[in-house]
Amino acid sequence: METMTDSEKKKAAEKKSPSEAPKLKWLSTKLLDDVFTDEVSLFKPHFEVDYEGYIHRLWESNPEIYEILKNSKDLEAARDSMYNYLEKAERKVFAIDNDLHILEKSTVRECIRVFRSIIGPINEFRTEFSALDSLWKLAQNKRDELKDKISVGFILEFINLFRGVTGKSNIYLENAQVKKGIPEFLKMKGREAANARMEILDDLGSSVRKYFKKYPSGLEDEVIGWRKENKSRILRYFKGDEDNWNDYQWHLKNVIRNAAPLVDLIELTTDQKEAVNNAVKNKIAFGITPYYLSLMDRKLSIGYDHSVRAQVIPPKEYVDKMIEHKGDRDVTFDFMGEHDTSPIELITRRYPIVSIIKPFNTCAQICVYCQRNWEIDSVLEPKALASSKKIEEAVSWFDKHKSVGDILITGGDPLIMKDNQVERLLEALASKKQVYRIRIGSRTPVVLPMRITDNLIKIISRFHKPPKLEIALVTHFEHSYEITPEAMNAVQKFKKIGISVYNQQVFTVENSRRFETAKLRIDLKSIGVDPYYTFNMKGKEETKRYMVPIARILQERKEEARLLPGLDRTDEPVFNVPKLGKNQLQAGQDHRLVMILPDGSRVYEFHPWEKNISAIPPYNYVDVPIYDYLEELAARGENIRDYRTIWFYY
Ligand code: SF4
Repeated sequence: METMTDSEKKKAAEKKSPSEAPKLKWLSTKLLDDVFTDEVSLFKPHFEVDYEGYIHRLWESNPEIYEILKNSKDLEAARDSMYNYLEKAERKVFAIDNDLHILEKSTVRECIRVFRSIIGPINEFRTEFSALDSLWKLAQNKRDELKDKISVGFILEFINLFRGVTGKSNIYLENAQVKKGIPEFLKMKGREAANARMEILDDLGSSVRKYFKKYPSGLEDEVIGWRKENKSRILRYFKGDEDNWNDYQWHLKNVIRNAAPLVDLIELTTDQKEAVNNAVKNKIAFGITPYYLSLMDRKLSIGYDHSVRAQVIPPKEYVDKMIEHKGDRDVTFDFMGEHDTSPIELITRRYPIVSIIKPFNTCAQICVYCQRNWEIDSVLEPKALASSKKIEEAVSWFDKHKSVGDILITGGDPLIMKDNQVERLLEALASKKQVYRIRIGSRTPVVLPMRITDNLIKIISRFHKPPKLEIALVTHFEHSYEITPEAMNAVQKFKKIGISVYNQQVFTVENSRRFETAKLRIDLKSIGVDPYYTFNMKGKEETKRYMVPIARILQERKEEARLLPGLDRTDEPVFNVPKLGKNQLQAGQDHRLVMILPDGSRVYEFHPWEKNISAIPPYNYVDVPIYDYLEELAARGENIRDYRTIWFYY
């Protein structure tokens, strides 16, 4: 095949561009057909972006679509022509003489499906926005008629979709094997084939290991050394000794409730300090255990602890939103609609066999993105335990609902209750004949591992009686950096009495870099924890800064988790549908992209788990724009090119 020089490629592309497209500054991409560049700065603040350049790229990415939009007299004519165009594009995929790579053809079909959905009138009606109308007005140069500002994020979505429908996703562009055509190992046989395949697998394997190095766990010698120093410093500050450190009551007594100890013990940014002060001043729940503080790097320049800090040090936007909604938090921030799924106080039910009981309404420390931030008033709130009357009523509720056999005790963190309170509750629940499993949802192994005392383990072990009744622990590690020898000991205490320990991770901007979650899975397994769920962040306005687009969680599953052995990737990526419950994101037939909004956010229609069982209506969800997420990653020093296939996950 003849190859063109860079300048020839550029000229050829200019020639192919629609003549009407504005002649604008050429963006400095290294690859002709790529909208991305290695220049991270392109994704820094919006004002640095060459907006007109992107519009130019949009039309250039599919001149045929540009012509259709430009020559359509109105929106409906544009819609008809677009449907015809997509119909033709789809037929081309099935033509015998189409020599596009079969995997690229699959992307074409996927893009056509998504495109059709976006231009469907019913989806415009439901989302009150027409992406097609905006594209048509842009092509017609009727920008003054656009009601909303069309963002670069929106344009990038369509650049990728325009390219995707013609088989130019370029997903495989940089793959050396694909450039060679059919990979060598498929043309060979026996040992020769195996050795050729080895090369590819070794490459992939070593690149995974390279990523893993970016995310050390707390089990590594160097990190253990830092934490030892942190511990001594914290003990000196609180005038404690080694015995105190091993006593969870001491930690609870010394929970950090304001910025002063933080300022004295670790380096804080001005924003972090202000946000904590503001949170405390406005009575927004805040707290950090001394143990968890010891996981934070003393100096900001070390920088491995971003995820640890982000969990407990609220960002400014969060504090502002919490203040703004002081009076209506219980409604505004109840994203999961728990008010509407709670048949009586302390009980929540969304599934036929499982129910939640919430006897205790506080925790040893407060996670910023807590789902229940609308009902947890303060750290270690003295009145957190529900009255015995309420607990009795909640426990009796199970007598009337015999189909519920799996109970999750959560809250708040139930293992912050006193030993005798834990025992009484387990006793009451275990006495129900239909109950075959009790799950304890607790973050104590992560934030206060010394709470897992021998006495607590003795109490819990009394109720774990397989096959009649299983007790399981569901915990919540977010990052490899939280995995420490202390956390491992706590987990192992459960494992030694035969109790399974599972992890529910929340997929946030703090653990979503390439292979960051894959590393967490490996580290979890190494201490005896099975990855169970990876949650897409709840669409709670106040924690928007933490959110990751659904496309990224799908990309992570396919391009990172899939590279791990099956025993490590036991978690399922899920989206929690308000009032209804978990939607398995891997089940492509249970969600679909229906619109792209002017700011570049995708609107998804999520189908309930009851699909094909009962006719429950779907739920529409507005995601965070992919472009904004990539900008955030770029600001954190990530090479955006590394994530470029994200646009093709729907
Ligand atoms: S431990 Fe759970 S309930 Fe407690 S603050 Fe964190 S997320 Fe919320």
